[in-house]
Amino acid sequence: MSSAGGDTIVLKNGRRITAETVTEDAEHVTYLTPAGQLSLPKSIVARIEKDDFGYSSASHSSEPPVSAPEIEPVRGYEDVAALAVHDNQIDFGYIARLESDARSGGATGVAKVAAAHYAAAQFLVGKGDTNTAIDHYREALAFAPDNAGLLLNLAVLYLRQSQFTAALDPLERARRLQPDSADVAKLMGWAYYGANKMDRAIEEWQRALKLRPDAEVKAALEKAQRDKAEEESYREGETSHFDLKYNGSATPDLARGILRALEDDFRDLESQLDYTPHEQISVILYTQQAFADITRAPGWVGALNDGRLRIPVQGLSSVTPELAHVLKHELTHSFVGQKSHNRAPTWLQEGVAQFMEGRRSTSAAGALVEAANQGAMPPLGAFEGPWMSLDGNTAAFAYAWSLAVVESIADSGGVSDISRLLDRVGTAPSTEAAAKEVLHSDYADLQQQTIAYLKHAYLR
Ligand SMILES: [Zn+2]
Repeated sequence: MSSAGGDTIVLKNGRRITAETVTEDAEHVTYLTPAGQLSLPKSIVARIEKDDFGYSSASHSSEPPVSAPEIEPVRGYEDVAALAVHDNQIDFGYIARLESDARSGGATGVAKVAAAHYAAAQFLVGKGDTNTAIDHYREALAFAPDNAGLLLNLAVLYLRQSQFTAALDPLERARRLQPDSADVAKLMGWAYYGANKMDRAIEEWQRALKLRPDAEVKAALEKAQRDKAEEESYREGETSHFDLKYNGSATPDLARGILRALEDDFRDLESQLDYTPHEQISVILYTQQAFADITRAPGWVGALNDGRLRIPVQGLSSVTPELAHVLKHELTHSFVGQKSHNRAPTWLQEGVAQFMEGRRSTSAAGALVEAANQGAMPPLGAFEGPWMSLDGNTAAFAYAWSLAVVESIADSGGVSDISRLLDRVGTAPSTEAAAKEVLHSDYADLQQQTIAYLKHAYLR
């Protein structure tokens, strides 16, 4: 999501002041200017108009369209699971012995190998290490290729990593084994939806609903149908990394300009974040009205990324500097989401997205340092979850603070530290634990470091 952060203070004499972060208490209205923080007596203020191109806590790529079903591939081998993972680690020697027993034959041996690898994979998923968990499913499937439960669990891990094409292979194998499984259809719908094959996604979710009623699948299906209806009239453009759809609100020139800008951004993010997304990224250009209808987002949402980049472009004929910022910002969310296996907290998502779009803390530094001096700085942990529940002022503050923290990380260790932090967030038990490992800083250290950075960089 993008925030342009421009509220307007309307004075009783009619004067209008546009300001970045407006806060109010009983007696004063306070706002940020390039020169620092200014206060007005409330008695002269008529009202504050919140900007209509603000922040949204609407999801970035982190929200899958449906949830993953819980499927146990083998039952009745709790003893095997307990021997495969104990004392907070995987017992590889035990698993190797089970594999060697299974090779000498017997269905029970195979079931035990499957149970052991499943336990190991679950353990690793709990630790956030999806890649190694995938390896365990693959090893289990080498022994038990017809275990649909293993196939579905493997597919879910690929889906969570946004590897939609990779997910289709185990799903197709599971379908051959269980043609009437509602779970297979549900997950296939997710894979096709993620890969932007809307027709196939709709087909699969309809099939899933016929096999088993499911409110979540119904909602996902309706969303996919709204998308498809809107996009049927759209024209398309494609480059190696993007698949773009747009309707009459955009000219082919604008669409080409946007694709060019996105390809440049892609190359830049690829080298800065040392990561390449697995799938083509879907981009949709909307009129303002269509954007509101399709996304069902509040009126103040400017653009958003829910796995697809949804960008309103009404009235634009070329890539303006503002649009360029929005494109880079939203594309960064795709990189950050996928690189961190959708585990990056909101402050890190929005901090990196603003940083990459080129925003800096110049005008907010004074107010942030002031807030810290007054002991009014919420801990970083308070900004990990969705920002939907924050009031407008706190959200504006959260954007400014998140950017400042990311800036200070890049200042002290280079952008490569941000890249390494995102990798570690994908596997560490928490973001703070990842920060301790990669940056040798906990959240309190990061806060201190950021304040020192802001003073040094902007307030000398
Ligand atoms: Zn954003």
